[in-house]
Amino acid sequence: MTKPDFETPELTLTQDVPAVQPGAMEHSKPFVAKAAHQEALGFPGELVDNWKEVALDKMSDLLKTYRSLPVFLDSCVKCGACTDKCHYYLGTGDPKNMPVARQDLLRSVYRRYFTVAGKFLPKLVGAKDLTEEVLEDWYKYYHQCSECRRCSVYCPYGIDTAEITMAGREILASVGIGQKYSNEIIGKVHKIGNNLGLPKPALADTLDGLEEEVKEDIGVDVKFPLDQSGADVLVIVPSADFFAEPHVDGLIGYAKVFHQSGISWTLSSYASEAANFGIFVGNYENMQKVAERIRTAAMELGVKRIVVGECGHAWRVAYSFWNTLIGPFDFLDPKFPIPQHVCEFTNDLLSQHILRLDAEANDDKIVTFHDSCNVSRGSRMGNQPGGQFIIPRQLLRAACNNFVDMSPETTHEHTFCCGGGGGLLTDDLLELRVKGASPRMNALQRVIEDEGVTHMAAICAICKSQFSKVLPFYGMGMDMIVSLHQLVGDALVLDNGH
Ligand code: SF4
Ligand code: SF4
Repeated sequence: MTKPDFETPELTLTQDVPAVQPGAMEHSKPFVAKAAHQEALGFPGELVDNWKEVALDKMSDLLKTYRSLPVFLDSCVKCGACTDKCHYYLGTGDPKNMPVARQDLLRSVYRRYFTVAGKFLPKLVGAKDLTEEVLEDWYKYYHQCSECRRCSVYCPYGIDTAEITMAGREILASVGIGQKYSNEIIGKVHKIGNNLGLPKPALADTLDGLEEEVKEDIGVDVKFPLDQSGADVLVIVPSADFFAEPHVDGLIGYAKVFHQSGISWTLSSYASEAANFGIFVGNYENMQKVAERIRTAAMELGVKRIVVGECGHAWRVAYSFWNTLIGPFDFLDPKFPIPQHVCEFTNDLLSQHILRLDAEANDDKIVTFHDSCNVSRGSRMGNQPGGQFIIPRQLLRAACNNFVDMSPETTHEHTFCCGGGGGLLTDDLLELRVKGASPRMNALQRVIEDEGVTHMAAICAICKSQFSKVLPFYGMGMDMIVSLHQLVGDALVLDNGH
């Protein structure tokens, strides 16, 4: 690893609030999307001449479309409860990374152009003109928010900074200043079907290779079916599951679960991506277009159910938005949840004693669990409140004899973002990612010291990729992070006794 040009935060056993360091992350901004990346998504290729008019028109549209947006912009009382709740503020000390300050970037312009007081007495109400400098600040600091919603848990009014960030990013993309990383990825999904741009033959080869690998490893013919018409279940996974560590071990885990359950399943080459980066840009049309591929694939393959793999924001989009985006799902079997998370799927089979786990298989590990933001605060699982926290832990306890939770102010709905969510998982934002991970790293360090934790499981592709990258910055091994279904797959008792 080449020496980075920034300091990794010191690990502390308590989560300290840093001294305010104005401008500490002023230099941080992601690469701007090229014209081709923008245009593929229906945005202008570069900054339009009448950008101010376009930006204000877009803001006006968003204020009318999302009733929550003006409510959030109008209701902040500056109580300060959110100020020290953002991992990017805790990791950087930059006051513009305090959630309330991030909101104010948009709020000040909203007040100037959309409120009576702001039109006539702008200084009195903190209203600001929309200038190129303001646009630049939006670009920097709306790309220092992972849309994790932790701050909203602590806000007495439930103001959701993530929604304000999404609005800010959508306005930016609409005037021609999109983010390269997210927009390029969305374009690949529109064109090929997955974030990686992996065409069908390459995907088929990869899956064949996995079948051989599993056969060699455990001597069982576990299948990874692709485009199997008439299968019962369409499984939608993040494309990282197809090859990258530790993701692929999760995919192997799902395949073993299906194999042992006897339920027929298939992946789709047309809908070969669970991730939906449309949500990160805040753009409904792109989010819908990405999701539409899944509906089309499910109908064409004639499946009865759709199961979503380990991907945090994909699950949020599926659970919270699919019905509006691509429903109704009247062609699926109503006896099962629509959609269903792979953890729910496996947990149901375990509770019916269709599967059996031998937790001793993971006795070489002491495992903790990282709750992913979008699962924790943007969705649910199962049929009881808090199911998104209960079900993954039930699975982990069934698969591992040694499981411990991290401290409660860092788990469940209080969980800290991994630092790479919300479209920030790109190396041009490495400093932000490393610093933003520090609250999670602090909590992890505590359970390593107190409980001897050796592994951290997650159910989100972004979290897994982010931790693989940042763990070494904190002196921890990148292989500490594992897929939950890897642990399940390793403990699963198959017919051949494995
Ligand atoms: S949504 Fe998350 S990343 Fe964004 S300001 Fe709130 S705590 Fe920070
Ligand atoms: S907690 Fe809510 S009301 Fe208080 S400053 Fe933050 S956003 Fe405003």
